[in-house]
Amino acid sequence: MNNRQLLARSLEAVWHPCTQMKAHETLPLVPISRGEGVWLYDFEGRRYLDAISSWWVNLFGHGNRRINAALREQLERLEHVMLAGFTHEPVVELSERLSALTGPARLGHCFYASDGASATEIALKMSHHYWRNTGRPEKCRPLSLAGSYHGETAGALAVTDVALFRDAYAPLLRPGATVPSPDARLAEAGESAADYAARCAGQLDDYLARHHAETSAFIVEPLVQCAAGMAMHDPEYLRRARTICDKYQVHLIADEIAVGFGRTGSFFAHQQAGIRPDFLCLSKGISGGYLPLSVVLTTDEVYGAFYADELTRGFLHSHSYTGNPLACRAALATLDIFAEDGVVAANRRLAALIDQRAAGLAAHPRVKNFRNRGMIWAFEVDSDDPQFSRKVFAQALERGLLLRPIGRSLYFMPPYVIDEEEIGHLVAQTLAVIGEVP
Ligand SMILES: *Cc1c(COP(=O)(O)O)cnc(C)c1O
Repeated sequence: MNNRQLLARSLEAVWHPCTQMKAHETLPLVPISRGEGVWLYDFEGRRYLDAISSWWVNLFGHGNRRINAALREQLERLEHVMLAGFTHEPVVELSERLSALTGPARLGHCFYASDGASATEIALKMSHHYWRNTGRPEKCRPLSLAGSYHGETAGALAVTDVALFRDAYAPLLRPGATVPSPDARLAEAGESAADYAARCAGQLDDYLARHHAETSAFIVEPLVQCAAGMAMHDPEYLRRARTICDKYQVHLIADEIAVGFGRTGSFFAHQQAGIRPDFLCLSKGISGGYLPLSVVLTTDEVYGAFYADELTRGFLHSHSYTGNPLACRAALATLDIFAEDGVVAANRRLAALIDQRAAGLAAHPRVKNFRNRGMIWAFEVDSDDPQFSRKVFAQALERGLLLRPIGRSLYFMPPYVIDEEEIGHLVAQTLAVIGEVP
């Protein structure tokens, strides 16, 4: 196999996601033969530093020895069994450990699926069904933030506020409501991020004062709205949102599909606000970037509202691969690495180093809003070119770097195993790319 052969076959047979396929007439697909650490290799020895963790899923590098070993062992015992009516060790241990990580006010009940969008759907359905089971079936409308992204299946898309993904399918979707985003870039001159967050929370309060009777849940991406271009907000927003949701009896869903597992500097992002959501959605980093797995964690109170003699009060949702043992084993190996290597603390030192090395970027005349939260860095680049993101992507590949800007927002979300030399490559090549694109 060589690069050219694989590309030709792929274009014949594979319909690639999130892509206008005709664009590949001029911008080739990138063939990958293997991965090691932060690097992805093609068939001819070219390599790319995976600065976006393969769409935000990878935590400890490609081909991680410890996760590989755990998977091999699991493979010898049990590859899969259905989770309705059956159970197995990896899913039980993973549920216990994830619940324990939610802290003393535990989210003690774990419901599994295979991707992030399904986790969103599960949280939305569970919230609605909770209100139905507790005699308030009119509470059936979810609320989300402006610029929100919660996945692209029809239910998840209804709470996703990204026109590019949503507009073509609008007639298929239930109309959803949004409230203003606490995105700190939108603060007025002289207004702090926390003040702006408080102002936006006031707008949430106003909305729910009028609509709480029909609102089931408020779904939020805590601290960083990644798909909106790494829009970051102050934890004050989450503290206030928790109080407001309690006041109006609306569930708070924390969609930590992208920001969980240490990405924002704490194990879960909502922990920086000292709150507990009613539902916590996890995916992406959960399996270290190895296998599709997602989970929704919830409270005793929600679980209790479904626990009854009647079948129809139960949560009758399922996916064939729910709780797959291999995926759960990869997740357990990922949690082992967090515990054994003290990853959250180590990431603080790593983030400080990256910050220091990226000073030249922050000071670049074309760079605006340089920002960082945990292991995410982002900034806007001054450009009028409508092809900006495509040109950055192509130019970065030329320089051995995988970057995938969102509009004019460039970001780094590297695997946690990036070393000093690799940080140097990341920053130097990004600076070079910014110098090259119009
Ligand atoms: C990626 C993402 C999703 C959707 O997950 P998929 O596995 O792509 O379906 C949902 N919410 C957030 C915040 C995400 O970043």
